[in-house]
Amino acid sequence: MIVVDGDGLLRDADSPLVFPDDLGVLHGDGVFETVLVRDGRARLVDAHVARLVDGAARLDLPEPDIEALRRAVVVAQEAWDESIDGALRIVYTRGRESEPSTPTAFVTVSPVPERAASARRDGVSVTLLARAHDPDVAAPWELSGAKALSYARNTAALRHARSRGFDDAIYVSSAGSVLESPRANVVAVIDGRLTATPPGDGILAGTTQAALFDVADRHGIRVQHRRMTPDDLIRADSVWLLSSLTLAARVRRIDDCVPIERPNCAVDVAELVNEAIAAG
Ligand code: PLP
Repeated sequence: MIVVDGDGLLRDADSPLVFPDDLGVLHGDGVFETVLVRDGRARLVDAHVARLVDGAARLDLPEPDIEALRRAVVVAQEAWDESIDGALRIVYTRGRESEPSTPTAFVTVSPVPERAASARRDGVSVTLLARAHDPDVAAPWELSGAKALSYARNTAALRHARSRGFDDAIYVSSAGSVLESPRANVVAVIDGRLTATPPGDGILAGTTQAALFDVADRHGIRVQHRRMTPDDLIRADSVWLLSSLTLAARVRRIDDCVPIERPNCAVDVAELVNEAIAAG
């Protein structure tokens, strides 16, 4: 693993970096980004940094030093073996409980987990999980739009899905609308249109989904944000989970063996995402 501190200095990956009273450790109080490093270059960095800054504001954290973070990203990507796809994390916490208002920042890079490559290659099965969230009620304290460090609920949802034999999960709101996966956005091709959940519905606004929509737009493929029901997914031409590390994983099954196979779907989401990442 590569570790770079907030001053842009490479650190020994086997030595401690964070204090035990860091509020990121104690409360998950902070934000982070996970960025794909491909061919030695961190992808879609502008979008990730913008989301980190937005998330920091949502958590009332001090504004991050963007230039320092960018320098740390460059140091980390240069230290990484460019022949390996890397998962670069930018971490920004509220800092030490004993030293209020001095945030902690660092960047790490480690190999992209094998599950990401296999999801990209083979697709995924998903189970629908209820999330007690009303998409019509803005609840800023839920921090749904921020990539907050407190991911224990997300990982619990994924463990639950796995324990029931699924690769991943899709949350469904109390209003019955499709939200997101605990680690990805949902995009469906419906009547030839790329369709994603409105970002204001209590989901994380995905950098991969946004990059996909930009590329699709340039190709004249229609895109839309609109609420979808699980039924819309089942009837869609194709359904995908999109995220920075996995990129695009085709959803092959939703709960009880509902097959989604439309091999002749004209819109190749995986190819468009690859194009977006190559340019990003
Ligand atoms: N939604 C959630 C809850 C996530 O954790 C992630 C990625 O980690 C995404 C969506 C996808 O975001 P991105 O494409 O920026 O990686």
